Amino acid sequence: MPDLAEAKERMLKEHLAARGITNERVLKAFREVPREEFVPDHLHNLAYEDMPLEVGRGQTISQPYTVAFMTQLLDPHREDVVLEVGTGSGYQAAILALLVERVFTIERFAELAQKAEKRLGRLGYDNVEVIVGDGSRGWPERAPFEGIIVTAGAPEVPPPLVEQLKVGGRLVAPVGKGVQEMVKIVKRERELEKEIYPGFRFVPLVGEGGFKDA
Ligand code: SAM
Repeated sequence: MPDLAEAKERMLKEHLAARGITNERVLKAFREVPREEFVPDHLHNLAYEDMPLEVGRGQTISQPYTVAFMTQLLDPHREDVVLEVGTGSGYQAAILALLVERVFTIERFAELAQKAEKRLGRLGYDNVEVIVGDGSRGWPERAPFEGIIVTAGAPEVPPPLVEQLKVGGRLVAPVGKGVQEMVKIVKRERELEKEIYPGFRFVPLVGEGGFKDA
């Protein structure tokens, strides 16, 4: 579809490269993953606009810039095992699948998890495993992780996620109610290094280490 191809190039140039996304591997992954496959049919024409879109159950696929910003902050390496909390459409998981060895992703709504799993399988992202559950507890059976990315807003970074991070590992999570700050944590032997970037807006992380209701 030529219009979508053009729109994708515009997204890469105007919303990602021009706004500080400089990691070439990250940009390449955004060029490869067909975002239109992760949004409902009637929204295909908006797939490369820099906006979040509804994906069912009141949840959203995040805007491309935010996904790219978080992916770049995560500093993904080819040999990494990464946990994503909040599968949603599966788009962020698909981007990660091209950048790291293995992706584990958790979604609280079974309906969204099943759709995402099917879609990721159909598109050939076979290094991604999806489960239904409360991702604020992490996935202890698969831990530790080199990277953890949370794609829903939490009141604080859930402690089990920090525990499940390897030394040298990176965690990226939006924190706060309403408007969030993006928090990046790098786990060192004796301390956690923290960076904070203001001005993000996500649906809430709902669960034991998140908000108690939506
Ligand atoms: N990463 C997604 C994508 O690429 O489409 C977008 C994620 S959407 C902004 C946030 C998702 O987090 C929603 O699908 C929501 O149901 C899910 N979620 C909220 N709380 C959760 C929890 N405790 N465990 C797992 N998923 C959760």
